[in-house]
Amino acid sequence: MRMKTWALAAAVAVLLGTGLPLVDAAGQAPDTRAERLRRQTDNLALQNIAPFKVFDNLYYVGVGYVGSWLITTNQGLILIDTLEGAYKEHPLEGIRKLGFDPRDIKYVILTHYHLDHTAGAARIQELPGVRLAMGEADWDALTRAPNPNNERLPRRDVALKDGDTITVGSTTIRLHVLGGHTPATLGVDFTVYDAGKPYRAFMFGGAAPGPGREAAEQFLASVNRIEQMQDGVQVRIVTHAWMDPEFWDRVDKLASRRPGDPHPFVRPDVFRAWIAELKTTAATRVDEAKAREASPRGQP
Ligand SMILES: [Zn+2]
Repeated sequence: MRMKTWALAAAVAVLLGTGLPLVDAAGQAPDTRAERLRRQTDNLALQNIAPFKVFDNLYYVGVGYVGSWLITTNQGLILIDTLEGAYKEHPLEGIRKLGFDPRDIKYVILTHYHLDHTAGAARIQELPGVRLAMGEADWDALTRAPNPNNERLPRRDVALKDGDTITVGSTTIRLHVLGGHTPATLGVDFTVYDAGKPYRAFMFGGAAPGPGREAAEQFLASVNRIEQMQDGVQVRIVTHAWMDPEFWDRVDKLASRRPGDPHPFVRPDVFRAWIAELKTTAATRVDEAKAREASPRGQP
């Protein structure tokens, strides 16, 4: 089944504490729109979300269960993440529907090597002048990644190091290497504008620890680093809508927003609460991994 591996990973990620209610009283995940979008990854009709504008320079071109984001600049486009499987053309179609031209893509930033974020990049790499940028260790990991659907993988291109920047026109994006979900998951730190007013946005590319003690410790260190640099962060951008239980409500609010209404994605408090929650999750995972190691049979 297409994307089965990812669906399993997603389920694990949710169990690791991404803020969604896990189950209702009957032991079932609540059948909200967000939950259906998260789980029914093969339901093309459901997943086919029309592209929409979130800020003056930021658009959503992803599907329901995994995101792809378009940053516009005065000298071309930057795409973040590229989808997989049946959805690989979706971001490009979205870009066209929004009135932009995929041939203006200058950079594709891949938040981490998992195929739901990277598989579509091979196709986009064929466009002239496009550079693909991902954390250095994740380029290595991509070559070893399980590839159950035989996706064509992008060729290694720009290998980002912590603190690198990408500049297109007058837009500069800072990349932080924040391992733990994968070896070199990116934090994408950039400015969005709402009616010309700037806000600092931050996308944490992999908001759940990978398996094992080392990944959990690395993830905890990454979350601690985000906490230290979160002053001034006003907007949380998620790689998967289901990481934000209110994502689709925010989208609805944005669509019906009247002049003077606050922007529903400008929520510094939400960002801080999320980082605090991730810290707790990470610390628990580290403790559990240590307890397993201390136990003679490897059991907690
Ligand atoms: Zn991932």
